[in-house]
Amino acid sequence: MTEIDDLIQPMTQLRRDIHAHPELAFCERRTAAMIAGELRALGLDVHEAIGRTGVVGVLRNGSSKRSIGLRADMDALPIDEQTGLPWASTVPGSFHGCGHDGHVAMLLGAAHHLARHRDFDGTVNFIFQPAEEGHGGAREMVAEGLFDRFPCDRIFALHNWPDLPAGTIATRTGPIMGAADWFDIHLEGRGGHAAMPQDTPDAILAAAHLVTQLHNIVSRRIAPVAQAVLSVTRIQGGHTHNVLPDRVSIKGTVRSFDPAVQDQIETEMRRVAQGVAMAAGLTATVHYQRNYPATINDADAANEALKAAATVGTALEAPDPALTAEDFAFMLQACKGAYIWLGQGRPDGSPPLHNPRYDFNDDVLGIGIRLHVALVRQWLGDVGAS
Ligand SMILES: [Zn+2]
Ligand SMILES: [Zn+2]
Repeated sequence: MTEIDDLIQPMTQLRRDIHAHPELAFCERRTAAMIAGELRALGLDVHEAIGRTGVVGVLRNGSSKRSIGLRADMDALPIDEQTGLPWASTVPGSFHGCGHDGHVAMLLGAAHHLARHRDFDGTVNFIFQPAEEGHGGAREMVAEGLFDRFPCDRIFALHNWPDLPAGTIATRTGPIMGAADWFDIHLEGRGGHAAMPQDTPDAILAAAHLVTQLHNIVSRRIAPVAQAVLSVTRIQGGHTHNVLPDRVSIKGTVRSFDPAVQDQIETEMRRVAQGVAMAAGLTATVHYQRNYPATINDADAANEALKAAATVGTALEAPDPALTAEDFAFMLQACKGAYIWLGQGRPDGSPPLHNPRYDFNDDVLGIGIRLHVALVRQWLGDVGAS
């Protein structure tokens, strides 16, 4: 048994306790207080309420000015859990369906180990962020001066990944997760009798044209070697058989990796919407909202992560990015670093992230703790590891 093995049982308990008491974006008060208490008990310098409910624990050792940041997200999802597990959520409509409970436990486990051994030279910033699930907790922490107050030469984040087998750790240079944008398009006319279309611009027909034109953007206006997805997810308008409605709305999402491609899609969407509306005698209003930018790994940091990963598990250079989004992107815009997938798939299959039957696989807690520790030792040297 190594000392990290001894941490697995208490960290499993802690993980399941967080799981049973999930908290949604920016409401992670119990979770944050528990984290702050653990870090204080370990002797770390603890800072709370950064980005509303975020917590940073600072562990310094030796004299080096080098520093590293490690991030775990803390928030749950607004889903009703259906696992039936003994540690299932006790809060209706709130559920750790993305494994952030496991991320907190792995990072606290690493804090336990590093605080006890102090076998590094420099500063480790343990960053616990709120509101990853669509509410931009990382953006708020960065805006509140996260990296000015706690400078990091490197920043890393682990995310459990059910599609990869437990024990495999994957990352890649460049884009690893997509940018996620939302759009709402409103077509407006004046409405009228369905039997007299000559008098009334038809917003329904124009919306149908617009949906097909929107799908031309990625296939015809974006270079085939670029990657992007545009999906129309809702179309709404009209009430009854004999009325041409005065308005129809369309909404959907755009995912991409390259900011230039993202700009081009938004520009094309505005052009196409105006063109279709004008042809039909309608007006178009386009609301295009950029939620999270693409998560772009630094090449040096990705290679460092793979090197550290190879010391604790099976390191894999991921061939492709995922089109899902991650607000660690905001931290990577401000600091050199990498986002890392930690395989947690079980041999008999694992429900995907955000599924009501998902549960973090506690079998990977040890490898996650070891990976954090390996990243610290690699970046901050190793002054007498025990
Ligand atoms: Zn998620
Ligand atoms: Zn997540």
